[in-house]
Amino acid sequence: MDLSPKMFREIPSVISHHWKAGTINWPMSIYITLVHIVALAGLPYLPLVKKETVLWSFVLWWTSGLGITAGVHRLWSHRSYKANFTLRFILMLWNSIANQGSIYHWARDHRVHHKYSETDADPHNATRGFFFAHMGWLYVKKHTAIVAAGRELNFSDLADDPIVMLQKKLDPWFALYMCYVMPAQVASRLWGEDFWTAFFVAGAVRYCVVLHFTWFVNSAAHLYGDHPYDPLSYPAENPIVSLCAVGEGWHNWHHKYPYDYAASEHGWTSQFNPTKMFIDAAAMLGMAKERKRATGAWNMGKIRRERDRKNGVPMPKAEPRPWEVKRE
Ligand SMILES: [Zn+2]
Ligand SMILES: [Zn+2]
Repeated sequence: MDLSPKMFREIPSVISHHWKAGTINWPMSIYITLVHIVALAGLPYLPLVKKETVLWSFVLWWTSGLGITAGVHRLWSHRSYKANFTLRFILMLWNSIANQGSIYHWARDHRVHHKYSETDADPHNATRGFFFAHMGWLYVKKHTAIVAAGRELNFSDLADDPIVMLQKKLDPWFALYMCYVMPAQVASRLWGEDFWTAFFVAGAVRYCVVLHFTWFVNSAAHLYGDHPYDPLSYPAENPIVSLCAVGEGWHNWHHKYPYDYAASEHGWTSQFNPTKMFIDAAAMLGMAKERKRATGAWNMGKIRRERDRKNGVPMPKAEPRPWEVKRE
């Protein structure tokens, strides 16, 4: 496992390597560092906050989370269901609160991530270790293989969606407003919270925490957990990540069947998955339709594997992960 003191000891040499190679992404490095400094500056405000603002921060966690999971991930990146204009507009607003780059750019990177997982062309290649997959990838310039892979794929469906293009046009100012300022305006006008207290708690601290919750999908859910659906892949079933990321931690299933709108084998009664619940509720209200599932494909595969097992066909064996190989 890569969360060893060695990983931290390696940080100066990794920084010096990228410094010499000229591969540090300075604007993003400064931005992500500032996000953390502002969130740390917000911690002293936590004891001062009204209970309505605490509740508001939780609401913003879940809505911004759904803007990522039900929005840019399951709808725009994977097209696992269809949403009407109203739902797409709401998801775009919630996605802007999450402030993780525009829907267009997020979906582009994510499609490349699925096609080239755990290779140089994967934007957050988990074979480069926990920190790189989690947030280190944002600090360095993209590998040339990622840029080349991005040129190969087709994103015309994103360009054809006026809601996606409107948000892209307003990026980054609208997202910065929705992430930091809007939460403070709502809290100060509706229940008289001090503007800056709400800015730091419901804005800065909540934003930074939700960023890490999302990043755990790329780091923890690519490194730790079970592999019942595809033993050869890195992505794993990670219930703790699912708790943080509103149901997005069932990642072994998701990489095997990325077109499945549930992004998990079972329903939300047995696997924590508020995002599936939300899409199901939207379908009941007539706002979502054509929800794709992969349980049929999985059940057919199970029958085939059972037949192979009876016939003595050897099962595929995963290569040991880097942290499972004993270091000299
Ligand atoms: Zn993944
Ligand atoms: Zn995905």
